[in-house]
Amino acid sequence: MKVGVLALQGAFARHVDALRALGSPAQLVRTPIQLDDVDALVIPGGESTTMSKLLASSGLAQPLAERLADGMGAFGTCAGMILLAREVLDGRADQSSYAAIDVTVRRNAFGRQVDSFEADLDVVGLGAPFHAIFIRAPFVEDLGPGVEVLASAEGHPVVCRQGPVLVAAFHPELTPDRRLHQMFLDQLH
Ligand code: GLN
Repeated sequence: MKVGVLALQGAFARHVDALRALGSPAQLVRTPIQLDDVDALVIPGGESTTMSKLLASSGLAQPLAERLADGMGAFGTCAGMILLAREVLDGRADQSSYAAIDVTVRRNAFGRQVDSFEADLDVVGLGAPFHAIFIRAPFVEDLGPGVEVLASAEGHPVVCRQGPVLVAAFHPELTPDRRLHQMFLDQLH
């Protein structure tokens, strides 16, 4: 399994480090040819509106939509979760999302006064809590019956999975805990 990390904008470098630490030779994806060459994709945090524009201008928007519709595995964190969602609330009118997971997310959902916070989350399938760093994070406001909620913060789902697609509202690449990246790699096999 070759895993790519979308590297148009945002926090992609630490995802590459995390995957490589787990023995997966992660490849940067910036072009349609590079997307063709990978079997699964991490979409990092950053700014979903900017990434949405860069996906269009790089020619990746259409091939990415096709690969996701074909069932490609994907792990979206923060802005990446927004891009994978079926519907985005408080988004910009021109921002696209790829409906790879049946969730409605709200951008910047935890409110401006708590732009960033950290929390120890109980995640289904992981033993000890996961220390999660949230940065202007979204949360899941609504979800379809096929979506499994793996963790919540302040009563809102923040880690979800549907088939080969895993999303987290926070930045798992910013802590040395690799268990969510490992979960993503494990579900690809
Ligand atoms: N608020 C950002 C957005 O809407 C996401 C923040 C993040 O990825 N840390 O895209």
